[in-house]
Amino acid sequence: MLRIPAGHNLAGQRRSIMRTLKLGDRGKEVLDVQSRLCGLGYDVGTDGVDGFFGPDTQAAILAFQQANGLLVDGIVADNTWQELVEAGYKAGERLLYLKMPPFRGADVLVLQRSLNRLGFNAGPEDGIFGSFTERAVLDFQKNAGLVVDGMVDESVLKVMAKVTKDGGPHAGEAKIPDRNGGHSAGRSLASIAVVVDPGHGGDDQGAATAGGLLEKDLNLQVALRLSQALESAGSRVFLTRESDKNVDLYERAALANSWGGDLFISIHHNIYSKPDVQGVAAYFFCRQGYFSESGRLLACHILNSLSERLAITALPAIGRNFAVLRETQMTAILVEPLFLSGSETAKELFNEGLAAREAEAILVGLRQYFVSE
Ligand SMILES: [Zn+2]
Repeated sequence: MLRIPAGHNLAGQRRSIMRTLKLGDRGKEVLDVQSRLCGLGYDVGTDGVDGFFGPDTQAAILAFQQANGLLVDGIVADNTWQELVEAGYKAGERLLYLKMPPFRGADVLVLQRSLNRLGFNAGPEDGIFGSFTERAVLDFQKNAGLVVDGMVDESVLKVMAKVTKDGGPHAGEAKIPDRNGGHSAGRSLASIAVVVDPGHGGDDQGAATAGGLLEKDLNLQVALRLSQALESAGSRVFLTRESDKNVDLYERAALANSWGGDLFISIHHNIYSKPDVQGVAAYFFCRQGYFSESGRLLACHILNSLSERLAITALPAIGRNFAVLRETQMTAILVEPLFLSGSETAKELFNEGLAAREAEAILVGLRQYFVSE
C-alpha cells in the first residue's frame, strides 16, 4: 500500500532560515551567518561581521560546507543553516536528555562519539539526541555507578572524560555502530519496509534538459515503478510523494521515520554542463569521520547493478551529509542513475523503457544487498 502523509507538523524540530542567502545579499540574516562562522573560527574577511555577503563570506561558507560534507555551493539554504546553528553548541554548555523535538548539535555529536568510542552503542553519529543515544547514556551511567536518569550534565561529562583518558571498561570493544543497529542480516525484501523518495516535485523541478524533460518527473516515474516492484516482492512500501508536489527535505525524513522504514531510497538524476559526462552516482551518510556501513554497502550494490543494466560507468559510492541521509533513522541512500545531460542517454529519456529499467536495476541491487549480508 502506498501511503501519503496527512499534515505532519515539523514546527520546532529545526530552525529554518527566512530566505536563502547568497553572494551579494545584505542584512541581519547575513550578519547572523557571519557571526556564527566567526565563532567557529572561519575568516569572513577584513571587514569582519558587516552584514554583507561578499566573496570572503562566500569562501568561508564554501570551506564550512566542504568540512561538513554538505553540498558545496556557497549558498546558505536550510541544510547549511541547520548545520551552522548546530555547530555552535559546545560540549557541556547545556543539559542534554531525550526530548521531542530532540536536542541537536555539535555537543550531541561529541557525546555520541565518546559513547561509541567507549563501546556503548549511541547509534549513528548524527548530532541528534535520539533513543539510541539515550540508551547508551543509561548504559554508561549504570556502568560508571552514576545516577541512571539519562540526563547528561557536567558530572556525567567529567566521568566520561576520565574513563576515555583511562581507556575505559569497554575500550577494547569500541566499534563504529550503524543506523538501525547496522543489522539487516537474515532479512529479505519480503520482511521490510522501504521508503521510496522521488526527489524534487511541484515548483522544485530539479534538473531540466534542453529537450524539456524535468528531473522531478523522471524521479517520480522511477519511484512509482520501483514501489510496484517492491510490493510484488512483498515489501511494505511508502512514498514521500506520489504526485507532482513539493515536499520539504526534512519532512521527507520525518515521514520516513514515522513510518518506521528499514530502508530509505531517494531517487534523483544528475546534470552537468558538459554533455559527454556520464556516470551512475550513489550517496550514503557520512559526517566527520563517521559513516553508515550499511548505507555504503547498499550504495555499492545499487551502483553495480545500475551500471551493468544501463551500461553506464559507476562512480565510486560517495559519503555525504545530505539532509535526507542524516535525518532518516534507517539505512539511507540517494541514487542518481544517470546524467540527464548525457548526449547518449538523452534519446533514451524519451524511450518509455528507461524508468522501468532503472527501477528494475535498483531492485536487483537491493536483492544483492540482502544476499551479501
Ligand atoms: Zn535532484
